Amino acid sequence: MIKKILVANRGEIAMRVMRSCKEMGIKTVAVYSEADRTSKHVFYADEACCIGPAASRESYLCIDKIIEAAKRFGADAIHPGYGFLSENAEFAARCKKEGIIFIGAPAEAMIKMGDKIMARQTMIAAGVPVVPGTQEALKDADEAVKVAMQIGLPVMLKASAGGGGKGIRLVWKKEEIADAFNTAQSEAISSFNDGTIYIEKFIETPHHIEFQVLADQHGNCVHLFERECSIQRRNQKVVEESPSPLMTPEVRAKMGEIAVRAAKAVKYEGAGTIEFLVDDHLNFYFLEMNTRLQVEHPITEEVVGVDLVKEQINVANGLPLRFKQEDLSQRGHAIECRICAEDAENNFMPDTGVIKQLQEPLGIGTRVDSFVYEGYEIPVHYDPMIGKLIVWAVTREFAIERMRRVLYEYRITGLKTNISYLRKIMDVPAFVEGKYNTKFIAENNDKLSEEKLYEAEKSEVEDIAIIASYMDYIVNLEENSPKTSDNRPISRWREFGKRTSMVRI
Ligand code: ADP
Ligand code: ADP
Ligand code: MG
Repeated sequence: MIKKILVANRGEIAMRVMRSCKEMGIKTVAVYSEADRTSKHVFYADEACCIGPAASRESYLCIDKIIEAAKRFGADAIHPGYGFLSENAEFAARCKKEGIIFIGAPAEAMIKMGDKIMARQTMIAAGVPVVPGTQEALKDADEAVKVAMQIGLPVMLKASAGGGGKGIRLVWKKEEIADAFNTAQSEAISSFNDGTIYIEKFIETPHHIEFQVLADQHGNCVHLFERECSIQRRNQKVVEESPSPLMTPEVRAKMGEIAVRAAKAVKYEGAGTIEFLVDDHLNFYFLEMNTRLQVEHPITEEVVGVDLVKEQINVANGLPLRFKQEDLSQRGHAIECRICAEDAENNFMPDTGVIKQLQEPLGIGTRVDSFVYEGYEIPVHYDPMIGKLIVWAVTREFAIERMRRVLYEYRITGLKTNISYLRKIMDVPAFVEGKYNTKFIAENNDKLSEEKLYEAEKSEVEDIAIIASYMDYIVNLEENSPKTSDNRPISRWREFGKRTSMVRI
């Protein structure tokens, strides 16, 4: 049985994974870059290891250093979180070779699903409906024009190695195809080092609905129902909810069964997600599989009552699933908002800086998965997401009311966040009625950009004197607190980690 886990990630997901480890009595090892030495995950872990400079390529993406850290600290398993090395088949295979358990998908399943063209071929063979389009890579822009005209416009040009919304271009007109092919290809080369592009028919007014699956090493596989992820900006998710307001019990059962079939087709193990595009008539098409824990996994945990990280560890230990499909059901409604350090009034430019004041919401049905604290400086090098705000309530209506309340309670000063923007989303009629698709943000841009002073902001104006004196208090605290070698105040969070050792690789 796994006794010590190295978490090869940072930020909120590193905290999330370690929290479950703590509950299970499993020791944790954090890895961190030089830019992350004051990150909360470093203090929360039992042991911590600096693995190099800020650039991910030299730290969080460096397989050799992470393996070396695992060995030095005697970790018997590695959890990769999401992003970074989580879907890297070479890393999964290397862990196996070194005798370290990789808490994630088998390398073979990652290879089959990581490449979108190969995934489409595998799914077609398994009888899973895919978005109409090509099964082959496009040779050049000329071929892109020819194939696009055969499929019929509008189409999407997509990077086969794509992820995180990158390398995707929507084309409406014939004369735009060649240009779109070239820009998608260069983006794909710079982001994924692979310029393979293919074509999909553009599904108009689509819903992004995904199914959580969980499989063990003994051939058992279940789904944990759906998440609705259609509130997106630039093909990236902003708000997610479960259940989907679009879903019917019949379609849910059918999609769940297909999701399990898709996972079984690649002999999947662990937690994974099958993403579908669903049109207004509830026709659904396989989009891709994410062979890892998903950012939005907590809404499934709230509704189904399963700790997905614990189940991942359970599967990695070689144990059979603890439940059958018929043991699982959805209870109530959950919504997640991604809290990002970005300027919603300036094209969502990421913002960085020191968090001066932080008040995270509490109370019934509230969950905050984050990693920041007062006095913490958000580094410029990584994702601008500083946390996730999740609510659960008995009905969708109550969940929206609760989300409005917790967004009101959430206070961050010192840098710009998208909290006001999220508050506006909670008031847009199409969201409140549950009648929206992936065009939601584009279609409601006027409502989302209008100047609107919320109660919280009004009281913030009134509170300004209190905040000012509070900031003086923090500055004072920082000036008088002990300093690190590079002259940073040592945070209160330091008290958390009673590390036995601290090594640098
Ligand atoms: P989710 O469905 O979990 O939201 P995302 O596509 O938003 O998935 O990706 C989650 C995280 O993983 C993000 O931080 C994103 O930047 C990162 N990510 C996703 N795909 C890739 C990739 N191919 N290469 C590098 N990072 C990726
Ligand atoms: P990534 O790997 O970057 O997450 P996906 O293939 O999952 O890429 O697509 C991301 C988003 O782009 C989807 O959630 C959807 O909103 C949009 N999209 C992708 N393909 C299509 C399509 N064929 N038709 C309409 N929208 C699409
Ligand atoms: Mg996707």
